[in-house]
Amino acid sequence: MVMGSIQQETEVVVVGGGPGGYVAAIRAADLGHEVLLVDERERLGGVCLLEGCIPSKTLIAAVEVIEGARRGKEMGITFEGLKLDVPALRQFTEGVVNQLSGGIQTLLKKRGIAVLRGTAELAGPQELRLNGSEVASIRFKHCILATGSRPTLLPQLEGIALWTSREALAVPRVPERLLVLGGGYIGLELGFVYAGLGSRVTLVELLPQLLAGADADLVDPVRRSASKHFASLQLETRMVGLERRGDLCIVETESAAGRTKLEVDEVLVAVGRKPNTESLGLDRVGIALDARGLIPVDAQLRTRVPHIHAIGDIVAGPGLAHKASREGKVAAEVIAGRPAAFDNVAIPAVVFTDPEVAWAGLSESEARQRGLAVTVGKFPLSALGRARTVGRTEGLVKVIADAEGGAVRGVGIVGPHASELIAEAALALEMGAVLEDLTATIHPHPTFSEALMEAAEVAEGLPVHIPPLKRSTTPH
Ligand SMILES: Cc1cc2nc3c(=O)[nH]c(=O)nc-3n(C[C@H](O)[C@H](O)[C@H](O)COP(=O)(O)OP(=O)(O)OC[C@H]3O[C@@H](n4cnc5c(N)ncnc54)[C@H](O)[C@@H]3O)c2cc1C
Repeated sequence: MVMGSIQQETEVVVVGGGPGGYVAAIRAADLGHEVLLVDERERLGGVCLLEGCIPSKTLIAAVEVIEGARRGKEMGITFEGLKLDVPALRQFTEGVVNQLSGGIQTLLKKRGIAVLRGTAELAGPQELRLNGSEVASIRFKHCILATGSRPTLLPQLEGIALWTSREALAVPRVPERLLVLGGGYIGLELGFVYAGLGSRVTLVELLPQLLAGADADLVDPVRRSASKHFASLQLETRMVGLERRGDLCIVETESAAGRTKLEVDEVLVAVGRKPNTESLGLDRVGIALDARGLIPVDAQLRTRVPHIHAIGDIVAGPGLAHKASREGKVAAEVIAGRPAAFDNVAIPAVVFTDPEVAWAGLSESEARQRGLAVTVGKFPLSALGRARTVGRTEGLVKVIADAEGGAVRGVGIVGPHASELIAEAALALEMGAVLEDLTATIHPHPTFSEALMEAAEVAEGLPVHIPPLKRSTTPH
């Protein structure tokens, strides 16, 4: 390990070059600060770019091409001899990652942001110690910690060579039989990827529902699609044993039906992620972690040491890149003395399955649990012209609004382009839109975006493209 002797000074130091850290560094530099960014990896971009959002969405795009070719049959188009060249796909994905990582490097350079490779920990309230770098320590006025998270492995699986999302995204091969442990968004997305590439996928989930926390009617089309694409979908099932025998894995599962043994070629563990907070030297400056290992922060992303901020996957809230980036901007603006706060109404969640699912704001189930008086307008894609033109009619858009006054409180979407459509909902929520703002806005025809307007019309009780419905208001 390289141990340097050089000491550097800077106004703002950012630890971590992921979507939280590099965005914070850029904003801080643009607001006039001298900024230094430290990351222990060779390439910038963090988990999101190197082994998360970007490679997974590239592989999903590839699988969409395969699926599109299959779907063409309905329209009278058949492709003969579809072939998959795995090394070429790997190369394409790597190319995308490298281009974007190089782009971040350039963006930082253009702003005069210095980048150091090394593993950082706090040595004191104004000093970072670096390992693996020629620079031994950095003295700073402000620090933004953005060290992200890593996959959790189940304790009973430790020491067994298995895939996490990191290995799966590198596509070392396409196993004939793949067991995916975990029906959250990472397990599901990668399950669809490998099913699309030709693996026989078995997905095992402990809970009775996939995508825990999402409304059941949004998850249903995904469950149906997964049941079609996967060899087997096992809910309310627990993995109780796993043994590697050469190239094979023998997995034992338990459900209400009893215990079963299954032989597979690879196991992908996608049961959650944990924050990279243990080795940051936080105890040296009096910052204590919460029960989940997260760093407590206020709305300005300040830790209990006010000039040390923490953002992204190491603080509370959904572990998502866009949330990390927004927090990065807020932290940098706070350091620059601006009256910024992380007070967003909605952090949209997107699952890039087939079909896609997205939601923002209050879910229908949350509204019902809290006994709120809301109106829910649902519009099925089967009634949408655009959905018919592309032969993708499974799914719906729903709007949850206050029964009194019609303030939009939440939106849920399942269907093609849900990942893009949810941005309009997020804007509506941030701007405090009421149903009429959605219904009186002219949405281009024929597009999927019309479904949000149509759902708002259903919530208002004046639908056009479905028979008149009775308003559904909670509590009944
Ligand atoms: C398979 C997968 C798919 C995903 N898909 C999506 C998606 O589609 N959309 C979405 O919004 N989110 C997605 N995510 C989540 C997203 O990747 C994370 O929420 C996001 O990367 C968090 O950003 P961050 O800046 O907090 O940390 P990270 O991106 O984790 O970056 C942290 C960086 O800090 C570095 N680091 C850690 N400790 C130190 C240290 N002590 N010293 C120096 N450097 C250090 C790490 O090497 C890393 O480069 C996905 C995640 C995975 C695993």
